[in-house]
Amino acid sequence: MRRSDVVFMYAPSTPDLYDAYGCGVVLWGSGPEAAATAREHGVRFQGSIWFLTAWGDKLAENPELLRSVCVDIEGNPIEVPWLTDHKQKLPNYWGCTTGPYYRDYCKQRALEAVRGGVAGLHIDDHAGTAACASYAGGCFCQHCIEGFRAYLKANYGAADLADVGVADVDTFDYAQYVKQYATTRQEYIDRRFSIPLFIPFIAFEIQGEASLVADIRVACEEAVGHSLSLSANTCLPGPVQLGDYQHLDTLCGETNLGAAEGRPSDISHFAYRVADGLRRPLASTASGWDWAWIAANNKPGLVKTWVAESYAFGHRLMAPHHQWCYTTEKGTHWWDCRTEDFAPLYRWVTEHRDLFDGFETAGGVVLVFNSPAYFRGQDRSEEAAGWLASHSVQYRCVVAGGDWVDERLDREALLGADKVVVGSRECLDADQEATLDAVEQAGKLVTWTGPESAAALLPYAVEVTPSENVWALVRANPLTGEVAVHLLNRGYDLGADGVTPISDVRVSIDRSLLGGRAFAIATAYAVPAPEREPVSPSQDGDRVSFRLPRLDLWSIVVLRP
Ligand SMILES: [Zn+2]
Repeated sequence: MRRSDVVFMYAPSTPDLYDAYGCGVVLWGSGPEAAATAREHGVRFQGSIWFLTAWGDKLAENPELLRSVCVDIEGNPIEVPWLTDHKQKLPNYWGCTTGPYYRDYCKQRALEAVRGGVAGLHIDDHAGTAACASYAGGCFCQHCIEGFRAYLKANYGAADLADVGVADVDTFDYAQYVKQYATTRQEYIDRRFSIPLFIPFIAFEIQGEASLVADIRVACEEAVGHSLSLSANTCLPGPVQLGDYQHLDTLCGETNLGAAEGRPSDISHFAYRVADGLRRPLASTASGWDWAWIAANNKPGLVKTWVAESYAFGHRLMAPHHQWCYTTEKGTHWWDCRTEDFAPLYRWVTEHRDLFDGFETAGGVVLVFNSPAYFRGQDRSEEAAGWLASHSVQYRCVVAGGDWVDERLDREALLGADKVVVGSRECLDADQEATLDAVEQAGKLVTWTGPESAAALLPYAVEVTPSENVWALVRANPLTGEVAVHLLNRGYDLGADGVTPISDVRVSIDRSLLGGRAFAIATAYAVPAPEREPVSPSQDGDRVSFRLPRLDLWSIVVLRP
C-alpha cells in the first residue's frame, strides 16, 4: 500500500467511479465478477469475509452451526446488537471462533472469497469471540469452557492459579467461577474487570482468533498458489483488535471520528499514529454512527476534513462513495456522497504521489501507547495525542505491549528520542518498566497528567501563527531530502459545512527536526487546486520559516534543499 493510494472499501455501483477517484485498491470486495471489473480498471481487489455471524437463516438450517454460537453466563445465545434489524428465521447470533465447526465454516467462506483471481482477503470482525467476550458478555459455550481450561493448564502454574481462586485446574469451569461474581449477562459485563481471570480469558479468546486468522491465510495461499495480502477491520486503537496484527499487511478499519461533536476530533488521528507504531498502513473509515450523523445532517464538508487529516498523517480515509450508517433507531442505512464533492480531493492525491510516498513523520518526541493500560481504561496517551497534535508538537507513537499485544518498547530507540511521553506506567512487564526507568534517568520521560505536562516539551520544534485551528505536520523523505509540511485548517464551521479560510499563516521549524539542513526552495500546494505557488523560506539561525498568505482546507508546503 502506498501512502498516496486511494482505497475503496466496497466495489462501486458503477466502475466509472474507479477512474473518477483514481482508486487503486478495493479492500472489502466480494465476488469474482466485481474482481474482474476492478482488474480491468487497474484496481487491486480483495475478497472479504467476516467472523461475526453465519446469519439467522443459516443457523436455523444447520444445528451444528447453531451449537457454535456465543452464549452468555445464563446459557443464552448472544445476538449481535447491531444486526437486530436484519430479520431472519433466527436472530443473528454471534459465531464463536473457538468452536471447531464455526472455525471451519469461516475457513470455507475465506476459500470461496479468494477464488477468481483476487489480490488478497479482508476479514471483518476478525476479533471474533474475543470481541464478544471483551464487552458483550460471551462466551460460555462448551468449546470456550474446555479451551480455557486447557489454556490455563498450559500457561499457568498451580500456585498462580491458586492465587486467583482456581483450586483444581483439571475440573475448572469458567462459568462456575464467574458465577461467584455475576449471574446475569449484564452483571458480568458490569463487573468483568474485577474478575481476576477476565484478562487471561480474553487472552485465551484472542489466541484462538489469531490462530484462525493465521490458518486462513495459509489455507487461502495454498489454495490460490501465491501469496495474498491480508487486512482486517482493526478499529484502532482498541487493544482487543491487536492480537493478530502480525498476520496482517494492512489495517483497514472503522475509527471513531466523533462526527456528533460537529467539528474535527482532536484525538481520532491517534489511530494513524498507532498504525505507524505497528509499522502498518491504515485504510480508515468512520464508524457507522459517524456516517449516520453525516447522513442525517448532510455534512460532507466535515468529511473533507477527515480526508485531509488522514493523508496528512500518512494514511488514508477510504473514499466515502457508499457508507454503512447505523443508529439504534434507524438500524442499518447508507450514505452515498456526491462524487463531485470528493473525487477531486482523491484524484489530486494520486496526481501528486511524490508529495506522499516515501515521507515519514519527523519528530523527536515519542508518545507511548500503553496497550494493556488502555484496555483497562488507565492510559491517557490518546488524550496526550490530542493535545500534542493541537499544538503542532511533532510526535511518533510506539506501542507498549502486554496481555496479547506482541510489541515491546525498544530501549535504544526511546533513549534516542528528545522526549518520551507516557500516558500511564501501569500494567507493563518488568523489561518495559526498566526501559522507562532508563528513559527517566536520562531526563527524557514526561508522564502525561494533563496539558501542564507539555511544559517539559518546550521549546516546540514547530511554531505556527495563528496557533488556533491550524495543525502543522512535518514529514520528511529520507531518500530525496525533501520535507512536506502539511497544514490543516481545523476551523470548521458547522453552519457553513466548511472551514473558514485563515490568512497569513506563519510557520517556523527548528532545523534540528530537518536534519540541520537549509532549504532554498519551497512550493505551496492548496489541495485540491491545480496551481502551485512559490514560497520563500527564510533561514534565521536554527530555524526555517515561511509564510502562507491563505489556508483553506489543506495546504502542503514542500521544502527542497
Ligand atoms: Zn464460545
